[in-house]
Amino acid sequence: MTETTVNVDRGAAAIDVQNLHKYFGDNEVLKGIDFHIGRGEVVCVVGPSGSGKSTLLRCVNMLEQPTSGTILVEGDEITDPDADVDALRARIGMVFQSFNLFPHMTVLRNLTVAQEKVLKRGRAESVEIARANLEKVGLSDKADAYPAHLSGGQQQRVAIARALSMNPDMMLFDEPTSALDPELVGDVLAVMKSLAAEGMTMMVVTHEMGFAREVADKVVFMDGGVIVEEGAPADVLGNPQHERTQAFLSRVL
Ligand code: ADP
Ligand code: MG
Repeated sequence: MTETTVNVDRGAAAIDVQNLHKYFGDNEVLKGIDFHIGRGEVVCVVGPSGSGKSTLLRCVNMLEQPTSGTILVEGDEITDPDADVDALRARIGMVFQSFNLFPHMTVLRNLTVAQEKVLKRGRAESVEIARANLEKVGLSDKADAYPAHLSGGQQQRVAIARALSMNPDMMLFDEPTSALDPELVGDVLAVMKSLAAEGMTMMVVTHEMGFAREVADKVVFMDGGVIVEEGAPADVLGNPQHERTQAFLSRVL
């Protein structure tokens, strides 16, 4: 019997990372990470620069190859050498610090191209879904604009709408507001907050402690390639138990 997808366990966690190690050369940047996100949960990952946050997030959708360990996405093992990585990756929306829109395409085309090429949706359906997602991020009037004519905050909201147009089961955000002018951060966070309220599963690497405190179900503090502390935002951010967490928070809060 040929099976293209492995054991879809609908009761499984959205993301289940077990004993993940990642080396770049002989530099061990993830030193045995265990990390879980339940369906519909929002988990914020915080920690100093270089602590391995991006590498962890990138391992979850196989932009980086883990050195060892197991990663399950909704019960499917993406670290299995026989896994259909493209199919698994299609279920995960990704938003980066640097927007990464296609500069030579209009906003609308940015939102339809992968729907047509990857999901094989027809043009009309792709456009309909794209317009619904532009409305969701408050940019219905920008469908025909080119990315260069938008503010950074608008570009990031387009990037979110583009990811949502693929109907992902979960969204990964890597410092989505870090490149933005301060006055543009709020609009992007508001879109993310409404996504969370709709029940989207989200993994968010961020330095926005206010967002983490308000929106996260769980905050994970990383330092030096390990998870030092995790728990409810009020505990981790409000009453950190570890010296390293306290030192980090005293610098950023
Ligand atoms: P963070 O997102 O917390 O700032 P990263 O995951 O980006 O941390 O980086 C963790 C460590 O891994 C850093 O020391 C960084 O220099 C190193 N690193 C990240 N990506 C690569 C890469 N592609 N090649 C080599 N080293 C890398
Ligand atoms: Mg990073």
